[in-house]
Amino acid sequence: MRVTWAAQATGAGLTFRLDPEDEITGKATDEHPVKLAINSCSIGGVPGDAHPDLFAVAAWTVVAPWTRKRVTFDRAISPEVAEALHSGWGIEAGPIGAQARQAGKTLAISYSGGADSVAAATVYPEAPFVHFRRVPHTRVPNRWPHYRSDVLAKLAAETGRELSTVTSDLEFTLAEPRPGYPEHHAVAAGALLLADRLNLGGLGFGYEIGSRWLGGGRYLWRYTPDNPMWSPHGVWGRLFAAAGVHIVLPVGGVSEATTMRLALNSDLKDQVRWCLRGTDGPCRNCGKCLYKELIQAAVERRPLDTPVTADRPIARKYLRKPPYGGQEMIEYGLARVPGIENTLFADALDYFEATEESTSWLDHCYPRAIGEIPAQWRDQAAAFMSAQAGMMTEDEVRRVETWGS
Ligand SMILES: [Zn+2]
Repeated sequence: MRVTWAAQATGAGLTFRLDPEDEITGKATDEHPVKLAINSCSIGGVPGDAHPDLFAVAAWTVVAPWTRKRVTFDRAISPEVAEALHSGWGIEAGPIGAQARQAGKTLAISYSGGADSVAAATVYPEAPFVHFRRVPHTRVPNRWPHYRSDVLAKLAAETGRELSTVTSDLEFTLAEPRPGYPEHHAVAAGALLLADRLNLGGLGFGYEIGSRWLGGGRYLWRYTPDNPMWSPHGVWGRLFAAAGVHIVLPVGGVSEATTMRLALNSDLKDQVRWCLRGTDGPCRNCGKCLYKELIQAAVERRPLDTPVTADRPIARKYLRKPPYGGQEMIEYGLARVPGIENTLFADALDYFEATEESTSWLDHCYPRAIGEIPAQWRDQAAAFMSAQAGMMTEDEVRRVETWGS
């Protein structure tokens, strides 16, 4: 893979050319198959003079799935970043010849506006936000016109936080399964290029306990201490650290029920938006809205309020046997939503014996998640979680560590 960055009027343009051994089909780190649509994209709202390692890592979040043996950047990288690419992916990276970037002092939040992201922001009230906003690609038709990135960007601007919005069409480099991030970490491409300007030493993501420790919910159902995407010692954690931007998960120890509670009780509650479809509010009709409604109803101890019926395709998966994505939250909801037996989730009740007691661990914080936050930001997260969620007991810790077994 050969990577070239070019300065553009409003940011930086990335072009990449495949080597003979590369392929246009590949897998993201979470094993999700992806197919390449086009070999160029751009990132707006970023400076043109970032450290070469930042350009390299930002490019890698886009080209990793299609690279087989080597990656050649257009500017020399540090031996540290080259080593992280080699030990993590078995990739020869070069040319080598830059001094490593030193980590800065600031922690920024990669801010989407969803409940998990808002909860991460509440842990660090002084942290600036970097918001990724999707824009159309000039050479790829937009098959996702319902995705209201303008609404999310407007809400981010209303939070009152120091905000950098980066615009990018990088999601259109994916042909299949749909436009999206080639790697989850591509959401950070703009933040990486801003890291020198913002003096970043860390970037906080809203990934919660399900994504970090319970297998991510999508394809796995097991305890994942060595999660390759989000653990500090995983391939991505080491690569980001080599570029002086540590991956930080402020809410990595708590469930989506807890992030929902924290977000809806925060001073950012009016800006929370997890649905990408609605303009004046969540659409209430998509799969994400249904899932989040179950969680919110459980947190608020009220009956389910949804127009979705059991015959809808988005509801059908709950008529089948588990595992489901976000299964820990389904159990939590089944145990707590009054009248759940009269809803589309009724059939799922047959598969679980969830009770409030058996799901109470999802109200507390898994201590190992605090332990892996870099030292300079750890105490603040520990104090916040102790006060707002409480730490798990040993029995509750065992629930996490035997998840799925
Ligand atoms: Zn929706």
